[in-house]
Amino acid sequence: MPKIRSMTTRQLLEQRLAHVERRIREAEIRFGRPPGCVQLLPVSKTRPAADIARLASTGYRAFGESYLQEALGKQEALTGLDLEWHFIGPIQSNKTRPIAHHFDWAHSVDREKIARRLSAQRPADLSPLNVCLQVNISAEAAKSGASPDALCALASCVGALPGLRLRGLMAIPARESDFERQRAAFRRLREAFDILNADGLALDTLSMGMSGDLEAAIAEGATLVRVGSDIFGARKKIGHGANGNNSVS
Ligand SMILES: *Cc1c(COP(=O)(O)O)cnc(C)c1O
Repeated sequence: MPKIRSMTTRQLLEQRLAHVERRIREAEIRFGRPPGCVQLLPVSKTRPAADIARLASTGYRAFGESYLQEALGKQEALTGLDLEWHFIGPIQSNKTRPIAHHFDWAHSVDREKIARRLSAQRPADLSPLNVCLQVNISAEAAKSGASPDALCALASCVGALPGLRLRGLMAIPARESDFERQRAAFRRLREAFDILNADGLALDTLSMGMSGDLEAAIAEGATLVRVGSDIFGARKKIGHGANGNNSVS
């Protein structure tokens, strides 16, 4: 596509971003969601700080990162920009301290031990860390996430931790080629969300939907979609996937 090759990186990024924004708006309309109710969280993992700066100059402040060391490097390079950082990758015990110190959100809290460490290590001069509980909604053995059965207990534990503010749920369901089946997976997360809210937890964030399935997620009530490749272009395979062990960091 010679036309695309002649575009600058910035133009290409803005064009892809506009396309994703349009998909979100169209899905909101199509599924009867209030206009503007779905937040787009650009996922900048594996992308250079310069790409984040380009997006920040168009008004985006919040960015999702999965690989800790990589994220810390970009945060340092971009300190002047006052960005909001969301950790969305798997959280091992030895990463809780830097996450508690350097992030505003963690979407991937899936067990009590990790939650307690994040709360205890959250610096007192920062507001509580915003947390989503990651749920293994497709019950896939290889994926991280709390089992739906364990969710209520985990939510009441996290809700009581002083260094954390429980905001909602997150999931990465298995990819389905059929739209209705994809919706059904997201529906299970939304139903869990509704149950916790009926229990009085006041959750406001349903973090679900990525490049390939954001329409199905919006149909089922997503309030935040995490989009990487459809904004920044396809990622190079570097030996870790969206849900795998982030051994590179
Ligand atoms: C990488 C990643 C995304 C973005 O995935 P894309 O398919 O590139 O949009 C979203 N959520 C999580 C947890 C990820 O690791």
